[in-house]
Amino acid sequence: MNLVPGISSGLITLIFIGLFWVPPLWAQDRAWLSPEQWDYVASRGVVRYCADPDWAPFEYMDAAGEHQGIGADLLRLAAERVGLTLQLHPTPTWEASLAASRRGDCEFLSLLNRTPAREAWLHFTEPLLIDENVIITREDHPYVVSLDRFDGERLAIPAGTAVEEWVRRDFPRLQLILTQTENEAFQLVSDRRADMTIRSLIVAAHTIRKDGWFNLRISGMQADYVNLLRIGVRRDDPMLHAVLDAGVRSISHSEREAIINRHVNVVRHEVEVIEKSIFWPLLGVLWVVLLTSGFWILRQRALNRRLSQLNLLLEKAATTDPLTGLNNRARLMLCFEEDSLRAQRSGCPYSLALFDIDHFKRINDTCGHVVGDQVLREVAALMARNGRGSDRLGRWGGEEFMLLFHDSDIQSAMEAAERIRADVAAHAFSHGGEVTLSAGVAQWQPGESLVRLMERADKALYRAKQEGRNRACPEQGHESGP
Ligand code: GH3
Ligand code: MG
Ligand code: MG
Repeated sequence: MNLVPGISSGLITLIFIGLFWVPPLWAQDRAWLSPEQWDYVASRGVVRYCADPDWAPFEYMDAAGEHQGIGADLLRLAAERVGLTLQLHPTPTWEASLAASRRGDCEFLSLLNRTPAREAWLHFTEPLLIDENVIITREDHPYVVSLDRFDGERLAIPAGTAVEEWVRRDFPRLQLILTQTENEAFQLVSDRRADMTIRSLIVAAHTIRKDGWFNLRISGMQADYVNLLRIGVRRDDPMLHAVLDAGVRSISHSEREAIINRHVNVVRHEVEVIEKSIFWPLLGVLWVVLLTSGFWILRQRALNRRLSQLNLLLEKAATTDPLTGLNNRARLMLCFEEDSLRAQRSGCPYSLALFDIDHFKRINDTCGHVVGDQVLREVAALMARNGRGSDRLGRWGGEEFMLLFHDSDIQSAMEAAERIRADVAAHAFSHGGEVTLSAGVAQWQPGESLVRLMERADKALYRAKQEGRNRACPEQGHESGP
């Protein structure tokens, strides 16, 4: 008789424990918000937003006027995590979306680059998605190593995009032809009415194949034009910005990957369907046009193969610094995005060291740029030899290098930076001169962006220069470290 109360009290205990165990499992479906922010969400009605109606596969309107694409899915997930109800404010073009957002007809823009002009009225979340930009020309156009070399070439570009803003700033000698849509830009290049366009790698690969722009090719890339695509919230609602930012941060790397893959697979499927629908009718009339159609199919296949090879090469080129073979700035930014999400989840410390060659200008001035380049290559090789987890090593720009340290607090990052500094200082460089490095080291704080972390590492680097160079300095507040 005593057993029954024993069992039932055991069961009650288990149910009780269950009640406390289950919530942390669901908790992953919810972003972390402060009580004040939850109150804001609870009192909020529907939030209206604007999107780009013509930017597949990132975002677009389907035949039913529904917002679809990678960005649309990521946005839905972020909104769900914070309990916001969204409603699309439809617009015919991206420019109309920008204008509607300025007027306040919609409260945020779903997926866009942060630019100084847009910061005048928008507040940006952390990136929802990261993507590179490539230069697209006709097949007969030479490869584009640098846009600096062009004077008066006609660049077709959709109006109001961040790339338009960047090109105006960096390459004023290019002649811009503004278009309303992505397709119009490709059409102008294909018809020789423009020489090139600059578009996102994912969009370009998708559109060239899907719409059959077979006289176009990817001819180069603009390494520093990386699309860090964010949600842009009107500045008059800082609470909405904070809530959406928490939603974006709650999306894990693998969730992001799964969403991208889902859309890339959809794209691949569409391409297959198109190819099949052309292939079978062609077989039906094979006895009449055997030679012609055979040649046509082979040509399409060869072009497709070439495009995939090019894209593979470009992917490598897009992430590698050509002089040193190290990761480039774009790749380092991606590494940081991945690593910081991982560190956020695991709670492990994560640190960054920024290295700068001392008086490098003197080496160029006295020995010439060729020797300067050789010194950069030798320093890169020494750093790769010493850097633990060298896949997180890269050239940030000029004579500056960056190393990202997994599972490392500032003390162990300082030790590694000091080892590299000493190794470079002791190395017999091929030009016979002495080369030294200064370094600034900072530890990442949960939720912090790369820009903020870099600011602190940069200050430490500045101190290392001030204190006489050839040394590694930790960020402020850790000066007693080794
Ligand atoms: P500090 O110790 O204060 O860092 O002095 P510094 O001379 O190293 O710094 P400064 O920024 O004045 O000069 C950096 C030089 O690096 C100027 C630039 O011409 C050179 N540089 C940047 N990229 C390259 C490159 O790819 N090859 C060569 N040879 N030189 C480069
Ligand atoms: Mg420098
Ligand atoms: Mg320097």
